[in-house]
Amino acid sequence: MIKVRVAGITRGSVVDGLGVRTVVFFQGCPRHCPGCHNPGTIPFEGGREMPVIELVQEILDTVTPLTKGITFSGGEPLAQPEALLETIKMIKEKKPSLDIWTYTGYTFEEVKHLPVLEMIDVLVDGPFIKEKKDLALAFRGSSNQRLIDVPKTLAAGRVVELQLETE
Ligand code: SF4
Repeated sequence: MIKVRVAGITRGSVVDGLGVRTVVFFQGCPRHCPGCHNPGTIPFEGGREMPVIELVQEILDTVTPLTKGITFSGGEPLAQPEALLETIKMIKEKKPSLDIWTYTGYTFEEVKHLPVLEMIDVLVDGPFIKEKKDLALAFRGSSNQRLIDVPKTLAAGRVVELQLETE
C-alpha cells in the first residue's frame, strides 16, 4: 500500500489555479529557496503520513459541484512521484471531470521523464526566486515560473504555456 506524507488540505481556494479548487500540500521539499512561501512544509519528517486511499477520500470529501479541480502544492509534490501518481489516478477514477494542477520547484525539463506528468493538466514549474518576485503574476510568485499546459506540451514535444484570458 502506497503511503504519502502531507502537510494539509485547503478547500475553496481561488488563488492556486483556475476556478474553485481543493489544494493538497505535500510535506517535504529538497530545495531551500530563500523566501520560501511555505517553510513549514520543507522537513521530510513533518506533516502526516497516511495511505494514499485515505488522502483521496479526504480530498473527495472537499469536492462540491463548484469545485473545478485539485491543486497539489507543498513542499514538493514531485518528491513523492509514485504517491502523487496513485493519488491522481484514484481521483480521476472517481471524478474524471476534475482538472489537476501541480506546483513544483523543479523545471519541466528536470521532471519530464516522470510518468505522473501524463496525469497532470497544468504544471507550475521552477523554484520561487525572490529577486524575480512579481505580485502581478497569476497563480505564481516569480517570473521564472511557467504555467505549463502539460497535455499540449507532451503532444508537441516542446513547452507550451497555458494561455490565460486575462493575459
Ligand atoms: S521549492 Fe517551493 S516549497 Fe520548496 S523551498 Fe522552494 S519555495 Fe519552498
